[in-house]
Amino acid sequence: MNDSSAKRKKRLEDRTILLPETYQVSTRVFKRNPDVLTEVLLRANGICEKCQKRALFKRKSDGLPYLEVHHTERLDGGEDTVENAVAVCPNCLWIN
Ligand SMILES: [Zn+2]
Repeated sequence: MNDSSAKRKKRLEDRTILLPETYQVSTRVFKRNPDVLTEVLLRANGICEKCQKRALFKRKSDGLPYLEVHHTERLDGGEDTVENAVAVCPNCLWIN
């Protein structure tokens, strides 16, 4: 956005390679305990544990209420436990 549109268009016209470049990334992920996930979903019983509203829709795979299990204290320091997790609806997922 700092360049003018004319500069950007000139660069686009001058391109000789049109296919996107690729690069590799390495990501560290946490293996989450499926028992924690299941127990939190059972505890929630289809109700978002943040807004207390019924799940907005059902999971396509099995028809159960769609809630995301989210850790209260992030896993890069927090424990993967039932006590450190809540089941939340998609609306509440991004609200801290
Ligand atoms: Zn909610």
